[in-house]
Amino acid sequence: MPELPEAEVVARQLRAQLLGAQLDECLVGRADIVREGLSTLSWYQGSVLEGVARYGKSVALGLKKKEETRYLVAELGMTGLLLFRAAQTKYPQHVHVRMSFTGGRETELRYWNPRRFGRISLFDRAGLDRYRTRRFGVDPLTVPCDEFVRLMQARRGRLKPLLMHQQVIAGIGNIYANEILFRTRLHPDRLVNRLRAATIATLYDTMQTVLREAIACGGSSVKDFYAPDGTEGRYKLRHLVYGKEGQPCPNRCGRLIHRLQSERSSFFCPFCQSKRLPG
Ligand SMILES: [Zn+2]
Repeated sequence: MPELPEAEVVARQLRAQLLGAQLDECLVGRADIVREGLSTLSWYQGSVLEGVARYGKSVALGLKKKEETRYLVAELGMTGLLLFRAAQTKYPQHVHVRMSFTGGRETELRYWNPRRFGRISLFDRAGLDRYRTRRFGVDPLTVPCDEFVRLMQARRGRLKPLLMHQQVIAGIGNIYANEILFRTRLHPDRLVNRLRAATIATLYDTMQTVLREAIACGGSSVKDFYAPDGTEGRYKLRHLVYGKEGQPCPNRCGRLIHRLQSERSSFFCPFCQSKRLPG
């Protein structure tokens, strides 16, 4: 399931291969794949890709025609992928959008999503701004540390759901939340308002380190993530707790990694991440 690092890998590949290319045609196979803006689809024909941004787990293509820029936003949460022509897809019938380009290093970008519910949106500038405000909290890679500390201290409730709350901090999902909390030695159920500022600052540093390392590794390929060029992310090899229930704690404390079934599975070491540890 793509999270921030995987979306960032996608955005970087699109920039490298397609920036400045012209979108000749955008074919939508099923109308219900487009959540918003389907009636504006014909505008995009002949527009030029002038920028690619990442918001949380989503990737936004900025396309310019004459003096106007409009946007195509693809949500990669759950199972959506953006793939170049050469990348193999397991179930080609799940390719729902096909964009053909000229003047770039790639000629085609496909949107693949077996769940098929509307995950693509077409926006003008004002629509994009409203969407961003509504959907995304601060970005974990760019929010300043003091703002992150204030943001966390202003919330109530348990730590892990907050890290995954997209309207507060956009981009972290279940894989990276587990990895970040293990490395910070914080139990997933710790109450946020009981954490000291110094602990939250350490959490912030770890969060940035984990996400940056994951991006450098091309993300994590768990279930179905492939970069647009079809490659798999290698960060899965560095996972310490995610999917490791029953295995010895990598800190060699002698305990096994536990799995806690709540709204999403939590993987943690009951010794290294004891709720009784100071923090
Ligand atoms: Zn341990």
